[in-house]
Amino acid sequence: MNTLLATHGLTGGYGDFQALFGVDIEVGQGEVVALIGANGAGKSTLLKTVTGLLPAKADQVTWRGAPIGGMPAERIVGLGLALVPEGRRLFASLTVEENLLLGAQANRARRNTRGSTQRAAQRWNLDTIYALFPILKEKRHHPSTSLSGGQQQMVAIGRALMSNPSLLMCDELSLGLAPIVVREIYEALPAIVADGMSVLIVEQDVQLARRVSQRFYCLQEGRVSLSGTSADASDADIANAYFGVAA
Ligand code: ATP
Repeated sequence: MNTLLATHGLTGGYGDFQALFGVDIEVGQGEVVALIGANGAGKSTLLKTVTGLLPAKADQVTWRGAPIGGMPAERIVGLGLALVPEGRRLFASLTVEENLLLGAQANRARRNTRGSTQRAAQRWNLDTIYALFPILKEKRHHPSTSLSGGQQQMVAIGRALMSNPSLLMCDELSLGLAPIVVREIYEALPAIVADGMSVLIVEQDVQLARRVSQRFYCLQEGRVSLSGTSADASDADIANAYFGVAA
């Protein structure tokens, strides 16, 4: 496996409150990996820590083998990791298109540091985002807040894709959305990963998470309680790893 992102005994938390206790995960090139676990297990904390929104020790997070723990978030985005945060966090005063264009800023920063050879591989731009989510083209001049929750989630995904990441990290895409809308959003996943992009998803719906991923990690109280191939794990093992009780 060509490992992009790895954590090595990752610890982290909020001030004196420790939420992660030595977490080891890996995401390889072209993989869809799911992070599951109960409320408060540490899934969002893990994503925030690897993307530089929370402090980390340098060698506890590596990107293509190089330490990146504790780097400023904008440098980490520039390396090719993009986060779709929980709750979407769109800019309310901006239109759909303006929100999408903000995502391209990180892309520009990366091109400047890596030079022109990267440019040929740029797949995501307004046209390709609109092809992925046609409703966004229709609504491109509308304020993002006028969109439905599912459409706002599409904008959040589109904004992250506009940085042309190698790894897209999604935190609870389905939060607060109706099942049919969740299905519509997840239907975009095969197109997103078609050219070898990797995806790390945090998802509360375990069956959905297993269906869309090749591998999974289950977190329980800040530790990996189970990991493996999504298709092979038994429901009983997952229930045990999830809740810490025998199924
Ligand atoms: P959820 O599905 O509820 O988002 P999660 O697995 O993503 O769950 P985290 O949000 O990472 O869990 O929370 C891990 C732990 O850190 C929990 O005990 C939570 O209460 C705590 N925590 C989360 N955010 C903060 C914060 N801003 N300040 C202090 N503690 C926090």
